[in-house]
Amino acid sequence: MFSYRHAFHAGNHADVLKHLALIASLRHLMRKDGPLTLVDTHAGAGIYRLDSNAAQTSGEALEGIARLQALHEQNQAPALSGQAPAATEDVAEALADYLAVVASFNRAPGAWRVYPGSPLIMHALMTEPARAAVHDRLKLFELHPTDIQALDAHVAQLGAGRQVAVARQDGFEALKALLPPPAAAGGSRRALVLIDPSYEIKSDYAKAAAAVQDALRRFATGVYMVWYPVIARPEAHGLPRRLKTMAQQAGRGWLNATLHIGAAPDGGGLTASGLFVVNPPHPLKAALEQALPQVLRVLAEGRGAGRAWAVEASA
Ligand code: SAM
Repeated sequence: MFSYRHAFHAGNHADVLKHLALIASLRHLMRKDGPLTLVDTHAGAGIYRLDSNAAQTSGEALEGIARLQALHEQNQAPALSGQAPAATEDVAEALADYLAVVASFNRAPGAWRVYPGSPLIMHALMTEPARAAVHDRLKLFELHPTDIQALDAHVAQLGAGRQVAVARQDGFEALKALLPPPAAAGGSRRALVLIDPSYEIKSDYAKAAAAVQDALRRFATGVYMVWYPVIARPEAHGLPRRLKTMAQQAGRGWLNATLHIGAAPDGGGLTASGLFVVNPPHPLKAALEQALPQVLRVLAEGRGAGRAWAVEASA
């Protein structure tokens, strides 16, 4: 336990899939005025330096978000120059939005040096001028002794007060006390929960499934997003299948998105991951179907066999 540090992986292809879908989901939920309870059961450090030793050693961001920066710049160029757009394919809306959020943390010119983790992404969206008055709440959980300190410090810098809470607690356990979320003035209860374990311990697969099962019993209409690695391990194969069965038994909608970027030249590293969403916001499927082929084209360049994307969802 505790050998996993997200600083080595921040901005890799798995973060791209997860954060792209997270932002697209939040955008839709935030169209309504009712306040949201946002929960990140496995929060990490909150934000990462891409020029840190960890990021440079792994090189994962270079194969991930760094490659996508060019798409963002291509998307911005016509607007900045006032010229007609070049004859290139338009960047999908959800991808352009995700890249704009990452860019907002990187105001200095040149290669992006910072990558926001899920806590700072969620905070950025809930405090945008058009949303700030709604007062969404963010609950963050992290167990790693170093990352919880970093997370605490990063959240303190936001000056968010009681709107953002950080706890050194097991996120699977802590979730139980947060559901159902408090009712807003009009009586509505709304929540999005990101369950993003490192799966360092095999039992995380069963715990993620149990957390969703319990969450659906407590609050059937919440949006539950579970990231998982696509690796040759029975528990990893079994998790999306279990989640699908659970959603179907509860009569809830579901979506499963996967991204395989193809084998690395040296044959190492994680090459595929998935995101399972219970009660996915309606536009998420189409948003991912437009964005993932573009993501794959960029991230799979120079890589070997096994590249694919897929979005499967309930009718
Ligand atoms: N959600 C983050 C993001 O997208 O930026 C990344 C999280 S990282 C994949 C998983 C984190 O969960 C690690 O920082 C790890 O220390 C932490 N962790 C592991 N077990 C935990 C548990 N039971 N409760 C809370 N955090 C845990």
